[in-house]
Amino acid sequence: MAIKSFHPPQRILMGPGPSDVSPRVLAAMARPTIGHLDPVFVTMMDEMKALLKYAFKTENELTMPVSAPGSAGMETCFVNLVEPGDKVIVCQNGVFGGRMKENVERCGGIAVMVQDDWGRAVDPQKLEDALKANPDARIVAFVHAETSTGALSDAKTLVEIAHQHNCLAIVDAVTSLGGSPLKVDEWMIDAIYSGTQKCLSCTPGLSPVSFSTRALEKIKSRKSPVQSWFMDLNLVMGYWGGAAKRAYHHTAPINSLYGLHEALVILQEEGLENSWARHQKNHLALRAGLEAMGLNFVVPVKDRLPQLNAISIPDGVDEVAVRNILLNDYQLEIGAGLGAMAGKVWRIGLMGHASNPRNILVCLAALDDALG
Ligand code: PLP
Repeated sequence: MAIKSFHPPQRILMGPGPSDVSPRVLAAMARPTIGHLDPVFVTMMDEMKALLKYAFKTENELTMPVSAPGSAGMETCFVNLVEPGDKVIVCQNGVFGGRMKENVERCGGIAVMVQDDWGRAVDPQKLEDALKANPDARIVAFVHAETSTGALSDAKTLVEIAHQHNCLAIVDAVTSLGGSPLKVDEWMIDAIYSGTQKCLSCTPGLSPVSFSTRALEKIKSRKSPVQSWFMDLNLVMGYWGGAAKRAYHHTAPINSLYGLHEALVILQEEGLENSWARHQKNHLALRAGLEAMGLNFVVPVKDRLPQLNAISIPDGVDEVAVRNILLNDYQLEIGAGLGAMAGKVWRIGLMGHASNPRNILVCLAALDDALG
């Protein structure tokens, strides 16, 4: 058997993620691997925390990347904050809210579901009603940017309502971080997780998280130990906490962290607010082109996410055949529908490095060709 080295094709990634990785990030990842307790690496970790605080707009001391993908960031929030018997209100308007429910239940918690239509933002009034009906709820959880539908929810208002009812708020920002306005401290978010493979233009496999002082107090006052050894923040903090006390917890994914560091340096160079504005501007350009072709958006304008454009598949169109033409003839990946939206929508991502005018033109030309 003589299996040769793997050389992937050069694609344009305009699906729901991963998105195109900046060449600067890939170059950073090819730099020499050093020990994860090397003083030089430890300095890089401190910079990483500062850069993540900038991206999340927070001063939270407990801000770091979990060494695993977005799902692990999600799980880190739930396993640390939800104790057996805790009641959690989960707002669901797509696939990822459903995963939150599973997390709550696997932690021994009771999930009270607040359902909204897929393709719409979470309705604050429904959350308010659910909290009034469940005064013993301890936590509210929702997805800021639903990647399965392209809907953006009003995180600020939802967190405010949670706090009025004495609940902590867990927010999924996997698709929003770097692409849409997100202000962790100003909006008083208690626990938040994201991913590196969307608007940060980095490779998949890391999950930036941040926890408020209120969240930390809840974790410290737990009656039972966190059931996950790997994600127990009390232990992880021994590694990611202050440089003075850094001790082995797990072997950090060194080169992936170089990549995230570079991605965050790029974000800082562009400026967070400029990155949000670029995502919005490119979304409007794509939208104009798609609408000129007679294609329709699933999400109403007011709830629309700029970095994830869900488009209804026109009647009579073989959606798989269209995606295959894009991939094979144009090296362009767009996303299929997920969950209840499978077969009904395409999801066109404009995330991070991939959110640029050249990609928009290629996508419009390729779709025009494929749709005949
Ligand atoms: N939450 C949302 C909103 C997502 O879009 C995703 C991934 O697409 C996840 C969670 C899970 O992230 P990962 O696939 O990196 O585990």
